[in-house]
Amino acid sequence: MPAHSLNGTHDKILVVGGGISGLATAVRLVIRAQERNQPRPNVVVCESNSTWGGVLQTQPLHDGFVELCADMFTTKLPWALQLCEAIGFLDQLIPTNEQRRGALVATRHGAAPIPAGFSLLVPQRWDSIWKSTILSRRAKIRMRLEPWVLKLRRHFRPGSTTDESFQSFAVRHWGQEAYDWLIQPLVSGIFTADPAKLSMDAALTEFADLERQSGSLLRSSKHRTHERSADDSSTAQLQDALAATAGTKSIDSSGVRYGLFLTPRDGMSRWIDAITIWLQNHGVVLESGTTVNRLVGSTNGWSVVRRRGSSSVPITEDFNSVVLATPAYAAAKLLQNLDADLATSLEQIEYASAAIVVSRFHRNQFADNGEQLGFGLVVPTILDSPLIATSFASQKFPGRCASSDLLTRSFFGGALNPDHVEWDDQRLIESSVRELRRWIPFTADPIESHVVRWRRAMPQYHVGHRQRIERIKHFVARHKGLALAGNAYAGVGIPQCIKSGWDAADQVLG
Ligand SMILES: Cc1cc2nc3c(=O)[nH]c(=O)nc-3n(C[C@H](O)[C@H](O)[C@H](O)COP(=O)(O)OP(=O)(O)OC[C@H]3O[C@@H](n4cnc5c(N)ncnc54)[C@H](O)[C@@H]3O)c2cc1C
Repeated sequence: MPAHSLNGTHDKILVVGGGISGLATAVRLVIRAQERNQPRPNVVVCESNSTWGGVLQTQPLHDGFVELCADMFTTKLPWALQLCEAIGFLDQLIPTNEQRRGALVATRHGAAPIPAGFSLLVPQRWDSIWKSTILSRRAKIRMRLEPWVLKLRRHFRPGSTTDESFQSFAVRHWGQEAYDWLIQPLVSGIFTADPAKLSMDAALTEFADLERQSGSLLRSSKHRTHERSADDSSTAQLQDALAATAGTKSIDSSGVRYGLFLTPRDGMSRWIDAITIWLQNHGVVLESGTTVNRLVGSTNGWSVVRRRGSSSVPITEDFNSVVLATPAYAAAKLLQNLDADLATSLEQIEYASAAIVVSRFHRNQFADNGEQLGFGLVVPTILDSPLIATSFASQKFPGRCASSDLLTRSFFGGALNPDHVEWDDQRLIESSVRELRRWIPFTADPIESHVVRWRRAMPQYHVGHRQRIERIKHFVARHKGLALAGNAYAGVGIPQCIKSGWDAADQVLG
């Protein structure tokens, strides 16, 4: 039963934020009521922007389209698939292009293929490491000696419960050279984080746990199965990015085979459209262009002030429960007069920004018509390039542009180079072309290029993040009918955001 209702009717629940986390919260609220045979709660979702989906946005481009932010999600974590199933969207999903699988890493002598089966922090196939031109023989031997080196090192701490940075962890296990030329670019290409601050426990949980269990990643990788529990997999998607190069597939609970990564055939925005239509058909009130400005605790729950557009008068309304599915800093602002401890802990979660240059090239400008490019190129920080990574978007999925074109997305900024995000468009575009040419030869310039900037869009899971989240949970528990959802807490990937929304919905439903 609803925990506490206004006017004796069923629950009124406000979801603040219409990104994937907020929308998933609303879907779960409807589904839970259906499952329990209860009257539907009155759910209102408010989103400041005029569009839904938060950072998930698709833009038409020439005779195709391009994702401006996330372009796929993993199927190793079930929640995105489950959401698609709930709204009848499964048949709209397509896998990555098997034929063009693979990825490149920039070296001092051009781009080289990432060794097959290299799983982010664990080499699964030694033959491909030995054959690889990325590392010296000495670095390869150092990697092979991982179990013994670890035993000998003084600061090896078996069973340690202390969090550690990704950089320190990776160097300790695999040596400086493998870290610099292979592991750092792979991980940074995904997190765009500062490797010296990125928390192993929060961002690369599985590997930290593996060490605690077995000491050596190499030894444990020989014995472990690839199954993982749902909760320890905040980084499964990241690990899978590399497993994808090995060509494996995953099987969901129903036994259906899906590719490791899926995307909506017609773009993320079509998925968001499908979710919002489903929500409206199930009685959820969607208010775009509406910013929630103030939360005040009331006897039955929350008195909320929101404003439509910029000029309109504020609306005050009571709700039993509120889910804040906003970035942590936006939640902090709403909570600062209510709970200073909570607001301060939320504010302490740092965010990074990124700029993406989207370019359309003629395919025939690339050797082999670009067939050998794979899905993308990652650039080691040690090469001192402003380019973090380039994703070959049209190689990953069909239908993104004409078959004679190649669509690229080049990433700049991140935690290490925040100033690059503020470069003007021309400088970013020129830099994307120049830097890509350092490693991949092509003749003509792009036919068209566009820049998109994501400011404070990527929460940084610094060392100690998990403890901070525990503190935040503790403070949230002081407020009945309040829950948080979003990418700042227990995983940045789309599936984890959806899970955060589901957990928040369950929490406010009691
Ligand atoms: C460049 C980039 C690439 C990525 N690539 C991938 C990928 O390939 N695969 C993957 O799984 N993940 C990827 N991610 C991560 C993933 O896309 C995001 O973590 C996720 O989409 C965030 O969703 P969210 O709903 O938590 O937050 P957001 O999308 O940020 O939504 C929060 C919403 O809250 C609204 N809001 C804030 N304050 C208020 C207020 N006071 N009142 C009303 N509304 C408010 C905002 O306007 C916003 O729309 C990527 C992220 C980035 C930045």
